[in-house]
Amino acid sequence: MQKTMILALGGNMIKKAKEKGTFEEQYENVTTSCDQIIEIIKQGWNIVITHGNGPQVGNLLLQQELLKDKIPPMPLDVCGALSQGEIGYLVQQILRNKLKKNKINKKVVTIITQVLVDEKDPEFKNPSKPIGPFYKIKNNRFPMVYQTGKGWRRVVPSPDPKEIIEKDQIKDLVENGDVVIACGGGGIPVVERRGQLKGIEGVIDKDLASEKLAEELGIKTMMILTDVDNVYLNYGEKNQKKLEKVTLKEIKEHQKRGHFQKGSMGPKIEASIRLLENGGEGVFITSPKLAIKCLQGKAGTALIR
Ligand code: ADP
Ligand code: MG
Repeated sequence: MQKTMILALGGNMIKKAKEKGTFEEQYENVTTSCDQIIEIIKQGWNIVITHGNGPQVGNLLLQQELLKDKIPPMPLDVCGALSQGEIGYLVQQILRNKLKKNKINKKVVTIITQVLVDEKDPEFKNPSKPIGPFYKIKNNRFPMVYQTGKGWRRVVPSPDPKEIIEKDQIKDLVENGDVVIACGGGGIPVVERRGQLKGIEGVIDKDLASEKLAEELGIKTMMILTDVDNVYLNYGEKNQKKLEKVTLKEIKEHQKRGHFQKGSMGPKIEASIRLLENGGEGVFITSPKLAIKCLQGKAGTALIR
């Protein structure tokens, strides 16, 4: 098989923190990311695109909440599927148009992806992931946490991904040379009861799901595009130091010392360690504009075995 990478796009790249999240803004942001993806494809890479959905699924949840007296609200797993469709459609169309312009003969397809989780995962007893709108007052409809200065927020379980249900279909497409968009938003969490799958309310981290997919497909390279150029030690402090080329042994030391925040850089580093420990060769973490330079070892952070 041609050299293949998992390319994980941050949900915050598609709707940036300062933006409202209009269709035009998201279209523009996906366009920028797709320009970089084209450059990566031109370097001879086969690509599986994964992406986050935090801002988008948050908006969908708010819509369910606001309209609940008029239209029956959909559960979180359905909202996850809706966001996979929304973002997948944008990437699928914009990338297809750019491939055509660049005379690259590749097809793009989105797979609605379910990800198996363990019903006994401790997250189901102690949910940790804040999602959706902020509330002034705590309500009893679901577990909530208070986020300083911002208000109350619903928390949902963020279980560990165990298996990508559609992995065989994704593999066939990748081997065919197609660009596949999968595991959107970390995938839709499902549990298996007597051989039957059922959606469960929760949000899987997209970096951990991307790693699981890489492992299952035997993909040895992963690139995570986010809103920082590098991974840093002492991030946000006066003595912050950017990491450039780091070995597995070194990154595990830094992780142990608590350099990577839970819920943001933490899962990217955990995913990187898992991949490198399971046959992976390299993980690149940077911003979209530096993607090519990062692959050439001239920018960003590269984690190697
Ligand atoms: P994405 O949507 O791409 O997953 P996240 O917000 O989850 O984005 O993760 C990226 C964020 O991680 C950065 O914007 C940064 O604020 C934060 N971060 C936490 N710790 C670090 C670190 N050690 N180095 C770099 N960024 C960090
Ligand atoms: Mg994230």
